[in-house]
Amino acid sequence: MPQEQCNLCGKPIAPQSHYIVRIEVFADPSMPPTSEAKLASIDFDAAVSELLDEMGQMTAEELQDQVHRHFEFKICPACQPRFLANPLGKPRVTAIAEN
Ligand SMILES: [Zn+2]
Repeated sequence: MPQEQCNLCGKPIAPQSHYIVRIEVFADPSMPPTSEAKLASIDFDAAVSELLDEMGQMTAEELQDQVHRHFEFKICPACQPRFLANPLGKPRVTAIAEN
């Protein structure tokens, strides 16, 4: 079995001693509140052709990004508390320091 590496610090991690980080990024599936009057006033043909125009300018990957992205990472026990302290990795500009 190949040696696993921590996706954060790159150190080798022993089997069964690591943590798994799963991240899903997707659009809020809840419908915005819409009144019947609002629905009746929408020009659906124009709305659809506008949407198709926008989609035509996007790559398949960009469309996929709009829908749902799933990531899975393995991190070592040393990185786990650091990850939990800042799961979104703010600020993005600072690189992770080497020990
Ligand atoms: Zn690590």
